[in-house]
Amino acid sequence: MYENEDPALSPYDLVVVGSANADLVVGVERRPAPGETVLGSDLVVHPGGKGANQAVAAARLGARTALLARVGDDAHGRLLLGSQRDAGVDTGPVLVGGAPTGVALITVDPSGDNSIVVSPGANARLTPQDIRAAAPLFAAARVVSVQLEIPLDTVAETARALAPGTRLVLNPSPPAPLPADVLAACDPLVVNEHEARYILGILGQEAGDTPQEWAGALLGHGPRSVVVTLGAEGALIADSRGGGHVRVPSPKVEAVDTTGAGDAFTAALAWRLGQGEPLAEAAAFAVRVGAAAVTREGAQASYPTAEEVGAP
Ligand code: ADP
Repeated sequence: MYENEDPALSPYDLVVVGSANADLVVGVERRPAPGETVLGSDLVVHPGGKGANQAVAAARLGARTALLARVGDDAHGRLLLGSQRDAGVDTGPVLVGGAPTGVALITVDPSGDNSIVVSPGANARLTPQDIRAAAPLFAAARVVSVQLEIPLDTVAETARALAPGTRLVLNPSPPAPLPADVLAACDPLVVNEHEARYILGILGQEAGDTPQEWAGALLGHGPRSVVVTLGAEGALIADSRGGGHVRVPSPKVEAVDTTGAGDAFTAALAWRLGQGEPLAEAAAFAVRVGAAAVTREGAQASYPTAEEVGAP
């Protein structure tokens, strides 16, 4: 039991520490060759970034959510702050300035394939010092959720800043080598197949071929629990405190756009864990949220309310 599971002690169900990006999307008939220019469709700008997505997903479900991120003092930063506030996220901890807002420059071809260039911008300037300065936020959180679109030092400082009563949920995306103390603080580590294989590879371990093997091998490196997401197949959970491996099937849905589904899944999982639910129950809720998110276009725009997934 994490002591901050007592709602009376915790003004926030979930504090998300992570990235906020403007996604700049242009459709093209074909990608330009080096030195070439092609004309594309009208520009569409969406709020994105894994941290910002998770915060919106949680708040839309009804979680009392705060976001600790850094955006630029520019129009993209204002767009991101606006989408957070519209969803009900407390943006008080969001830091503004120091660099332009992070952007993802995305071209989409007629087959739907994306080519993406990310300029991390302000996300790269979210520092360990920013985490230390936000200490009261961590003391008050039931769950802190973090991903890897911010500097690894900042992620490591987040793991160190946790109050004893606070639970850490980490989605190592994009995957990078994780310090042992960060791995050991995860409860759970949330990975898809690619991230599982990458992290086991870095740790010098044979990955194996099944989610059960990945989860078991990852647990051996310190996390208190592991969740492997499996797209349309749902997820697999494993907990060092017992219970073996449990498959959590996803509802069958017509997938329209899977962008940001993993972020919705992780946010829903983190919130429900903070409500004191066992991992299997929280994951069963999270797959419903992930499945709902793939039935609609976009990332943040696709995230459901609790009512839409039939939850109280
Ligand atoms: P990521 O998007 O991070 O690669 P996954 O593809 O495993 O991760 O998807 C994360 C979660 O989103 C899944 O566990 C599931 O709940 C949901 N999801 C993704 N794709 C589908 C799908 N086609 N049908 C139903 N749910 C899906």
